[in-house]
Parts: sequence; structure tokens; C-alpha cells
Amino acid sequence: MEWLIYAIIFIMGTFFGSFFTLAVYRIPLGIDILYKHSFCPKCNAKLKFIDLIPIVSYISLGGKCRYCGERVRPRYLCLEILSGLVFLLYAISFKINFFNLDLNKLITFCFMLLYIAFLFIIAGIDKENISIDKSVLLFGIVLSCLFMIYVCISSKVIYTYIICLIMVAIFLIIDTKLLKKKLTHNYTINTLILSMIMISFTGADTFYYTVNLSLILIVLNEFIQYIKTSKKRKSVTNTDKKQMKIPVGFYLAVSNICLMIIYNFLQN
Ligand SMILES: [Zn+2]
Repeated sequence: MEWLIYAIIFIMGTFFGSFFTLAVYRIPLGIDILYKHSFCPKCNAKLKFIDLIPIVSYISLGGKCRYCGERVRPRYLCLEILSGLVFLLYAISFKINFFNLDLNKLITFCFMLLYIAFLFIIAGIDKENISIDKSVLLFGIVLSCLFMIYVCISSKVIYTYIICLIMVAIFLIIDTKLLKKKLTHNYTINTLILSMIMISFTGADTFYYTVNLSLILIVLNEFIQYIKTSKKRKSVTNTDKKQMKIPVGFYLAVSNICLMIIYNFLQN
């Protein structure tokens, strides 16, 4: 029977994955993500429920829009599968026993799935646009506040959370001050806020390794990019320069998700 639960979690993950692609596409464009019906960005046709079933709809339609035949990026399919796998791996690493339910563990599990969802959206938007979205960060802050209240009720040590939230508040104040002065370059502050949210969810230890892993991934990627560009021997244009900006939030989010799962496996 256990496999059935894991299957359900995987399917849940793919639905989340489908939501992530929608969020990553819509949030930077300022389109509502909850109430506006899903549509094809090419022909604007409203998508029916059957078009929204992750993986299945992509395969049955051959990766094309049912209405206009526009090719759907295979990246969407990959993200749905990836998100399903991450949810599945996290559930396995968390070793939650659904037949002998521990309510505390179940609540923590739900918080962590929402936190992973938050990281996915942060990573996706940062990868596409090199920006850490403020509204998504606010969702993360609200989530970590709720988590803190829960931790407080279930009487664990909470001072780390309080310190993190105070730091977040300070960063937000600095950020609004900078916005008033019309200094819109606040990527650094957003990264710091993201870091605080990460510490409050996964602890300082995991965050330390998250930073290390991110640095390794960034160096690796830069190295690969360097080899690619030196092969092309093209002069560096302005658009290339823009692409050379590093999506730090993306690397942090990806590393954090990996380490959460690894840490769980090691602990249990
Ligand atoms: Zn279409």
C-alpha cells in the first residue's frame, strides 16, 4: 500500500510542477496566477481541464497546443516530471508513516512541500529573468512566519526563527528606503531575504552547505560557459553580457532542495 501513497505524492508533485510553469511565466508579466483561467500564450484559447493534466496531456497532444498547434516547450514536461520526482524523493527521505500518522510530522511535511514549491518558483523566475520576485518572497516570508508560529506552539527552540525574521524585516526596510530613492537594483537584498527564509526552514547547517554547493555549481557553470564562448570565438555583445549575469537565487534554491533531501536521508 505504501507505493500507492508515494504514487499520489508523485502525481501531486507533477500538478505542482504544472503550476510552477504557470507561475514562472505569469508572475514576471504581472498576470494573476490563481483566478485567471489557463490559456495558450499563442492563440489565447482557454485550456480545458483535460489539457491541464500534467505529463499525460503533453504526451497525448504530442507537445502541441490542441487549438492552434503551437509547440509547447519540452521544458514544461521536464519541469513537471522533475517536480514530481522531488516531491517523491522528499517524501521518501522524510520517512512519513501514513498508516500511523504523527500529526506533528504531517504538518511539518506540508510546510516543507510548500517551502519546496516556493523554492521552485523562485528558481524558475530567477533562471528566466535574473530577478528574485518580491511577491514570491513575501509568500516565503508569510510561510516562514506561519512555520515559526507552529514551531512555537510545538515548543521547540525558536530563537533562530526570530533572528531570521528580524533580519528579514531589516532588509525589507532597507529595500523600501532604496526603492524610494529609485535605486531599483535590489537583487542583493532579495538574495539576503531569500537566505534568511532558507535558514528559518532548513537551519543554519544546511544553509552553510547550500551556499557551498551553489558556489561549486556557479563555478562549474561559468567554466562550461567559458569553454562554449571560447569555442565560438565571438566578440562579446551586450546581449551576451546580459546572459552572463548569474542567477544566484536559482543556484541557492536548487542546492537547498538537494541538501534538504540529502540531509533527511542522512538523519533518518
Ligand atoms: Zn494555442
